[in-house]
Amino acid sequence: MNRPGLVMQAAYIALGSNLNNPQRQLQQGFAALLHLPHTQLVAQSSLYRSAPVGYADQPDFVNAVAAVTTGLAPRELLDALLAIERAQGRAREIPNVLNGPRTLDLDLVLYGERVLDEPGLTVPHPRMAQRAFVIVPLAEIAPGAVVPGLGCVSDLLRGVNAGDLVMLNPVAA
Ligand code: ADP
Ligand code: MG
Repeated sequence: MNRPGLVMQAAYIALGSNLNNPQRQLQQGFAALLHLPHTQLVAQSSLYRSAPVGYADQPDFVNAVAAVTTGLAPRELLDALLAIERAQGRAREIPNVLNGPRTLDLDLVLYGERVLDEPGLTVPHPRMAQRAFVIVPLAEIAPGAVVPGLGCVSDLLRGVNAGDLVMLNPVAA
């Protein structure tokens, strides 16, 4: 449902999981995005398996990206994403480890071409350009999307090592 007179923005959400059946966590994550208020899920990438970066002593991750159009403001959208994480029992086996294991991580990677640097909300996501597990699925569904200050996603694709990822279940064309 849309708010009347609302400006809809394209936004991209990166999903990641490496605990409690990661593929199912991501499918449930996509299903939860379908139910966000004032928001349509317009595309979902294939699922990809990736080796953990940073903290290596943990299971592989499954990653994907969703495209939505939304009338939610960036902070409203982020809060809704964090609520979905909590609803799916987000737990960290190792607290406060950046890139540590998690049941479901939802990151707002792009919100239109807005640049935001507020407490608890940085968009574009600051580490997206280096992360093959974000750029490869994003390029699958939105190669022309612009990352403010960095260029379009298909250009960023040349700067990451796509060989680090294994496509698990391609989305039917
Ligand atoms: P990471 O995903 O980098 O491993 P966390 O998911 O634990 O880290 O980080 C959660 C915090 O990051 C949230 O409380 C949120 O406020 C903050 N944050 C800042 N910018 C973003 C963003 N673009 N998307 C998601 N979380 C963000
Ligand atoms: Mg996160």
